[in-house]
Parts: sequence; C-alpha cells; structure tokens
Amino acid sequence: MSKRLTGIAASDGVAIARAYLLVEPDLSFENDKVAQVEPELDKFRDAINTSKIELTKIRNNAEKNIGPDKAAIFDAHLLILDDPEIIKPVEDKITHDQVNAPTALTEVTSQFVTIFESMDNEYMKERAADVRDVSKRVLAHILGVELPNPSMIDENVVIIGNDLTPSDTAQLNKQYVQGFVTNIGGRTSHSAIMSRSMEIASVVGTHTITQEVQQGDMVIVDGLTGEVIINPTDDEVIAYENKRERFFKDKEELKKLKDEETVTVDGVHAELAANIGTSEDLTGVIDNGAEGIGLYRTEFLYMGRDEMPSEDEQFEAYKTVLEQMENKRVVVRTLDIGGDKELPYLNLPKEMNPFLGYRAIRLCLNQPEIFRPQLRALLRASTYGKLSIMFPMVATLQEFRDAKRILNEEKANLQQEGVEVAEDIELGIMVEIPATAALADIFAKEVDFFSIGTNDLIQYTMAADRMSERVSYLYQPYNPSILRLVKQVIDASHKEGKWTGMCGEMAGDETAIPLLLGLGLDEFSMSATSILKARRQIMSLSQNEMRELAHRALDCTSADEVQTLVQSYVK
Ligand code: PEP
Ligand code: MG
Repeated sequence: MSKRLTGIAASDGVAIARAYLLVEPDLSFENDKVAQVEPELDKFRDAINTSKIELTKIRNNAEKNIGPDKAAIFDAHLLILDDPEIIKPVEDKITHDQVNAPTALTEVTSQFVTIFESMDNEYMKERAADVRDVSKRVLAHILGVELPNPSMIDENVVIIGNDLTPSDTAQLNKQYVQGFVTNIGGRTSHSAIMSRSMEIASVVGTHTITQEVQQGDMVIVDGLTGEVIINPTDDEVIAYENKRERFFKDKEELKKLKDEETVTVDGVHAELAANIGTSEDLTGVIDNGAEGIGLYRTEFLYMGRDEMPSEDEQFEAYKTVLEQMENKRVVVRTLDIGGDKELPYLNLPKEMNPFLGYRAIRLCLNQPEIFRPQLRALLRASTYGKLSIMFPMVATLQEFRDAKRILNEEKANLQQEGVEVAEDIELGIMVEIPATAALADIFAKEVDFFSIGTNDLIQYTMAADRMSERVSYLYQPYNPSILRLVKQVIDASHKEGKWTGMCGEMAGDETAIPLLLGLGLDEFSMSATSILKARRQIMSLSQNEMRELAHRALDCTSADEVQTLVQSYVK
C-alpha cells in the first residue's frame, strides 16, 4: 500500500525517484575506558583515512557542481585531517587516558572549537566551524554511521529533509536531484524559490515527511498539487509518468513563445523579466526569453563560502551578468542578508524575530565596510550594460537617502580615481514593508522605480511568517489588502512618471497575473521557468477587461472571493 502526504506545492514538475534522506544521523556514543588501546588507535586512523578519501571526492564533485570558490572549503577540511596539532593529542589521549576513540576525538576537537570561538578574530571563528564539521565526519566513520553527502549523489533521487537551507539547495546537482520534500517551509522560502529556478519539483511544509520515508523508498513528488506518494503502486507510477510526460510536452510547446513579444489582445505590452541568484541562472533566463533581469539577489554571491567576496570578485560577477544581458535592463539588489538567508562568517547575533531584525539595508547602512565595496563593484560594472540598482527592505525615506548618499560618494571616489561610471543608472527601492507602500506617493518623488517584493510584503501585511507552514493559510497574495497596497504603489509611481515592477513570487502566479495586469503593473519579474507560461497567459488576456476585474477585486471581502472572481473572468 502506498502512502500519501500533502504539503505546499513549491515548484512545478513531477519527480519519481528513490528517497535520499538529508537528515542529521544519530552520532551518540558511550564514554568508555578501554583495556586495549591499539584497536582504538586503529579505528581512529582508519576513520581519518576514510574521511580523507571521502572529502577528496566531495571536493572534486563540488568543484564541478558549484565551482572552485565554494569547493575550497573542503580543502580547509582536508588540511585539518593532516594537522598534527589535532591528530597527535587525540592519539595521546587514547594511549595515556585509555579512553575509546570517539571520546578522545570529541574531547580534543571541542577544546579547539572552544578556543577558536572565543577569539576575537573572524578567521579563527570560521576555523572553529571547520573543526566541528571535520570532527563530525571522523566520528561518523569511527561509529560506522553514514553522513549525508548531497554533493556525492550520482543517481536520480528525491531529497527528503526537515528543511533545506539556501546553501544546501545550492549544492544540489540538478542532473540527479529530481525533486525535494521538506517538513517545514513555505512557497516563498528561499529554498523553494531556488528549486523553481533550478527546475526541481518540490513540495514543502509536509510536517512529517522525514518520519514517513526511509532511505531508498520510492517517492513521487507532484510539485503542481503538493502531493507526495511514498512507495507508490505500479498504477500510481504509470499515472504519474503520464502526468510528467504531459508536463514536459507543455514545456516544449511553451518554448515556441521564447522570442514572442508579450502583448495583450488589446495591444498592451507587459515586460517579463527574470529573478536570478547567480550568473549561473543566466542560461535559464536566456532560454526562457526574459526581457531583462528584474531582481538579481546578490546575497547568493556571499553565501556558501568562508569570507566576504572581494570588490573585484563582485565586479566580475556583475559585469558578467550585464554583458550577457546585452543592454537589457538588469536590476541588481544590494545585499539582502538576514531572515532565512544567513552568512555564518558575519557572526550576527541570533535574534528572536530575524525577519523583523537586523537585515538588508539596515545592516548595510550600519556596516559600510560591507556596503561600500558592493556599491563600488556595481558602479564599476555599470558601463558594461544597462544597470539599475535597488535597495532591499527600505522602511523610511531617510534610509533611501542615506543609501543614495553613500552610492554617490562612491561614485565620486571612483571618478576621482579615473574610473568610468555610467550616468544613467536608475535607482529604486523594493517595496516590502507596508509603511513604505503607505507612503509610496512620497517615495515616488525621489526614486526612479519601485519593485514590489510581495514575498515579504505579504508576510508583514498579514503578520504571517513566510517560512511557517502552520500559518500558510494566512499567507494570502489575493487578499484585497495586498491588492490595494499594490494599486497604491503603482498609481503613486505613475503619477510621478516612474515605473513599478514586482519581483515577489506573486508576479508569476497564474491567478495574480490578470489582477496585476489590470492594476497597471509595468514589469513582472519571476523565476525564469515561469516566464513562458506567464507570456502565454498575458497574450490571451485583454487589459481593458482585466482593469474591470481588478477594480471589482479591490472591493472583495476575502482572498477566496477574489480567487473565485478571477476564475469567472479567466477561463
Ligand atoms: C520579496 O520579498 O518579495 C523579494 C523578492 O525578496 P526576497 O524573496 O529575496 O526576500
Ligand atoms: Mg524580500
């Protein structure tokens, strides 16, 4: 008998493959004294050797999958395995204290971790994390427990985990990872967003998937409906293979629209742009016929590594994107760290409500040593294409003015150094905070454009954490309150002759698109994989009719009512 679970459909597609559990294994052991030390020394030395072989393979795979920069972390791990200052004390402890290998290893490595962590030195703090990681790997080998190694996957799998962090997701090899299913998370958590750009079918927020699935079980993931089937029957496999086939056929069909212009039946053009996390997403952007980049989430440049990317490194990354987009508009968002996107090497204090805390522009304005190199890199890259810059999580006009002042200072510095900077860089803000939407008319006088970040705007307006599957019923893009805020922002920008885009996931949502078109949204920016579907839909709609629809939706009493209304307009 198969078993069914339902979660939140997070990324389109159907996956059928064996489960790969990405969960923390049990590494508990008894703190025993031993009579014979030789077998313990052997166990320890064998575990070191096996860890070396394993880490070398991981390192080589990571280099292929995620690039040499990010693979370098494993070089640091390999060095620890060769470090006599760690190896020798463990061997001495086994020999002199006559304790078993797991006890000696953990006692020695935790001493190092404590010392490194207490140092007021970023580099040493990072070494603490490395030692902890390596110690875990060696311990697992001593105990004969297998650690999950997602970068070593070399057959088709469905990843099962409690949650996936954005950096876990970044390590997945798209060639083999067919889908993923998690216990927690919402449709707009960043791993869900990444799964869409990687075209991996995913279902999040199932609560119990890690308890229901065993390693190697057959799993079907229906990312279109949110259903997960564990150990399906032959009939179920056939039915879903057919569904997968239909999904791929439709994708092929959509490819014909790649070079078409997105024009409504009554002749109105809508700009369809893509959201990207790294320059590696550009192939998808180009293949899916995006008219520009509406959101470049630069924080991914800072993730999956041990230290900040240098100004030069950032310059190269921005230049690549601008050049490849060949003068199409590229909206780059400055660093938006915080919330569910962490940077361990910044050692930021843990907060009770990270989504309401020290993040994004708040952090950048307070730590110019982080902000200024990014602005300089962007300004230097600005002559290689059509650059727009926007600031995330702006709550007050003062924040925008401060950010703009710093940008202008860096521009002046560069010009003094003889570096050319484009003169036509548009400067905008993300509208993600209800206070900013409420004052859109005031902001509109000073910014060049708005980009509505509904992923956050919805969570702050409805006071419903975007990561929480428990309150996901309150996470309502079609709630009339959201539609009214969106209208207010669009109208305010148009009054000042400016434009408004939307880069939250709502911009690519089939039910929202008719409403947004009716509200007069200028630019829709979404996962590249949603673009062709959105294009087909917009080409079948009349803006005039959608204006009437949007007008009626603004007066609805609930999100459900809006949804029913849209369905009655759009067949
Ligand atoms: C948003 O909040 O809508 C947005 C696009 O930013 P992010 O999802 O990266 O928070
Ligand atoms: Mg946001």
